[in-house]
Amino acid sequence: MDNIEKIIVIGGGPAGLAAALYASRAMLNPLVVEGFPAGGQLTLTSDVENYPGFPDGILGPDLIKKFRDQTLRFNTRFVSENVKTVVKKENVFYITTDSGKEFKARSVIVTTGADAKWLGLESEQKLRGKGVSACATCDGFFFKDKEVAVVGGGDSAMEEATFLTKFASKVTIIHRRNEFRASKIMQQRALDNPKIEIMYNSEVKEVIGENAVEGLKIEITNADGNKEEKVLNVQGLFLAIGHIPTTYFLKESGALLDEKGYLYTSDIVALEQKTDLQPQFNFEFRYATNIPGLFAAGDCTDYQYKQAGTAVGMGIAAELEVERYLSEKE
Ligand code: NAP
Repeated sequence: MDNIEKIIVIGGGPAGLAAALYASRAMLNPLVVEGFPAGGQLTLTSDVENYPGFPDGILGPDLIKKFRDQTLRFNTRFVSENVKTVVKKENVFYITTDSGKEFKARSVIVTTGADAKWLGLESEQKLRGKGVSACATCDGFFFKDKEVAVVGGGDSAMEEATFLTKFASKVTIIHRRNEFRASKIMQQRALDNPKIEIMYNSEVKEVIGENAVEGLKIEITNADGNKEEKVLNVQGLFLAIGHIPTTYFLKESGALLDEKGYLYTSDIVALEQKTDLQPQFNFEFRYATNIPGLFAAGDCTDYQYKQAGTAVGMGIAAELEVERYLSEKE
């Protein structure tokens, strides 16, 4: 059969572009189906100060452009469309896009990332990047000696609130119920921190401010069921209400996803000791899904770090595993 690519990378964020760079320099002539709009979460970020190699910081869209330009130098090819389905038949992956195009490949790396969940308030979206953030690791540094709030009751909310106390003078966790879903140890760490206050049964109804966050309108449901409104004066709002990995197009592929939609790889299955899933994985390869030849890297398989730098590292590692996989097949 002709026109079978050696490798197709799905996704054009840091993980995908790093994988493509390595694949192109390994003479695998990669095709990147980068999605539309391309570039992932970095394109929605302003200053990136924690990506190594840029001592003065760099804008997210500029960083992604540099990644992409570097792959073009080695003739990586791009298709700016979203993938609709991935199916493997007789050792060939068939990838279709929204417009109906079909591509074939011997191996695939899925690097489609994840999107942070937002509350969906107009005022929240207006102030994104101006005090409203979904990444404490990225933006906490900008809130030295300021008061901030974190929304959520899971491990991320606990972790981010605790992390933010390094900078902020006070951190208020706002949770919609009267108990957290976070693990006990993470909860305790937050509850024991003198800089953290908790507001249970509370929902953010509006972010106050024109060009910067000045406060939050919060609705509190009291024990008797009555609701009261309160204004919390904060200069920053961090959402930690979960992420949605972009893996919907893998439904027909047979790739195993966890309950939130993150792709299981051999690394995760080994680390989390998923004994029930282990027989389906080949631990000879890292970053490998349960479908031989289908690899995954970056936020679509990583709920923990969610950083451009870690995504780049995973993308490179996954590509090196693909090289090994292809050479063993040939
Ligand atoms: P999560 O466990 O799904 O928790 C999301 C939290 O946000 C929940 O408390 C939920 O409230 C709340 N929430 C969701 N939608 C909301 C909305 N529209 N308005 C207000 N609140 C909303 O997500 P996560 O904390 O990001 O964690 C994801 C996974 O990563 C979990 O498996 C977690 O254990 C893991 N993780 C582990 C670590 C670690 O071990 N170091 C660190 C971070 C994350 P309800 O509780 O009412 O549903």
